Amino acid sequence: VTYALQAKNELARLNTGSVCCRNAELTAFIHLGGSLQLSGQRLSLNVVTSNAAVARRLFGLFKRAFNLTAPEVLVRKKVRLRKNNVYLVRVTDSPKLRELVSQLRLLQRDSPANLPAAESKCCRRAYLRAAFLIAGSLSNPEKSYHLEIYTDYLHQAEALAAKMISFGLTPKTIERKNGFLVYLKESDQIGEFLNIVGAHKTLLDFENIRVLKDLRNRVNRLVNFETANVNKTVDAALKQMETISFLRRQPLWHTLPATLKDLAELRLAYPEASLQELGEMLVPSLGKSGVNHRLRKLEKMAAAVRHKDMRPAGFCPPGSESCSES
Ligand SMILES: [Zn+2]
Repeated sequence: VTYALQAKNELARLNTGSVCCRNAELTAFIHLGGSLQLSGQRLSLNVVTSNAAVARRLFGLFKRAFNLTAPEVLVRKKVRLRKNNVYLVRVTDSPKLRELVSQLRLLQRDSPANLPAAESKCCRRAYLRAAFLIAGSLSNPEKSYHLEIYTDYLHQAEALAAKMISFGLTPKTIERKNGFLVYLKESDQIGEFLNIVGAHKTLLDFENIRVLKDLRNRVNRLVNFETANVNKTVDAALKQMETISFLRRQPLWHTLPATLKDLAELRLAYPEASLQELGEMLVPSLGKSGVNHRLRKLEKMAAAVRHKDMRPAGFCPPGSESCSES
């Protein structure tokens, strides 16, 4: 299972939230993965994906969000080895479909990919989620940091980038032979993107790999270290750093007292430092057992958060018609 597939499988199974978010999501699927087909006088809308979970999600969204006539799902089996099946989700002609086509300005190639109404934050998250599901890829963080979303049109690339920027990300756009790529290269930006779209389990994995990788690199740079000491310090520090990077993504983080936050920041900045060294860096300084005590407090908080349900932030509760988050 590739890393991108893991992320997509998680996202495709998330709750679709309220009406506004479902529409935003479906809009992204259509903008980035849809095509219109006209045979004779009959119009049909097709969206193609090679991911079964994404096809299921699309089917559900089409059925619910725009009250369209029942969509069909066609499967094309790939004969060659290591090729995925291709799923085609198709909606056939109806007044509703024609209304949708004009509403989303699907026939105007150069029109900006605007949503009908001003978007709330939840809907921008939903749009980015679907964009990644239908046209995104993510490299394995063990190897490199790269997340990209492909689109045929410049105006869609610009709209995608604008939505990312609205969350504080700094995406880049590059022209390719047949279209455009909007991409993120930095590990913390990719982590933040996963957080924004609600891929929280994938994000935890991502953070663990990232912390481990950073730590390995730093430790490798240290030369005069006794092996036994290194292992012991590394194991403990690794666990503490995982805990802290997890906590930093929680709302709880902003409510932590400075005594805990300062120590946490120092731990991240100096992975190879011993507890005693960390204590000496604090103002006022603190003994080894005091440092240990605070670290354990952080660990307890993280454990408490992890046990709570992991419903992604940014979803309107199912059934609610409007979004108050903005
Ligand atoms: Zn919404």
